[in-house]
Amino acid sequence: MINIKNLHKSFGDLEVLKGIDLEVEQGKVIVLIGPSGSGKTTFLRCLNLLEVPTDGTIEIDQKLMEFKKTVSKRSITSFRSLTGMVFQNYNLFPHKTAVENVMEGPIIVKNIPKQKAKETAKALLTKVGLGDKIDFYPFQLSGGQQQRVGIARALAMEPKVMLFDEPTSALDPELVGDVLQVMKDLAKEERMTMVVVTHEMRFAREVADEVIFMDEGKIMERGTPEQIFTNPKEERTRRFLNMIQ
Ligand code: ATP
Repeated sequence: MINIKNLHKSFGDLEVLKGIDLEVEQGKVIVLIGPSGSGKTTFLRCLNLLEVPTDGTIEIDQKLMEFKKTVSKRSITSFRSLTGMVFQNYNLFPHKTAVENVMEGPIIVKNIPKQKAKETAKALLTKVGLGDKIDFYPFQLSGGQQQRVGIARALAMEPKVMLFDEPTSALDPELVGDVLQVMKDLAKEERMTMVVVTHEMRFAREVADEVIFMDEGKIMERGTPEQIFTNPKEERTRRFLNMIQ
């Protein structure tokens, strides 16, 4: 489903991603961990082309992007629709209700008729447990509820892959569980291919097919949650896990 080769990203002189290779099969859940500044967010943003990589290739659902040459705005927009991104701070439109937030993308980007987009949005909000809150504005919702709107909004675009950038780290602890449950359901029931940056190690243990440890712009180690958490091979992985657990 995803095939990444030799992915590089620099900001000016700062090389943040230093050659990432990764394959992800359809329906698999990958959890990315690593120290602050190791390039996890940049990597996710490159998958979604919110940042355009400086070199390498990304293939998603058999569509290939090569970054050696300049890429057109049009191909960026169409490639971006393959992935749905869920951000740490929800990024909802504050002046739109939950259902309007979810309808917006399909109407504007995909030209879906308003009524149909609304029906789909309602169904998605019901699926994430917010069927009774569709007409609420973001300020009337808890952080966890806003994040579930964020997930519904990404799903409304029917992406092939969902990308989550620390989706629970801005939430009060008691609100984390509902968001993680929605993500678990998406993985287990819908068999959605997911790449998740998170510090929630329990989620990683329960849901991830593979855990990837990134450091200094590279993949240092990868394995099943069992391998990475109980028997990491690299000293740096061990040190990182000792620090956060
Ligand atoms: P954290 O866990 O703290 O979110 P991270 O692993 O997600 O960290 P990134 O946010 O990807 O790390 O940042 C990696 C490096 O890239 C950092 O040194 C950061 O300052 C730099 N960086 C990220 N975005 C930009 C940008 N738009 N312009 C310049 N430098 C950037």
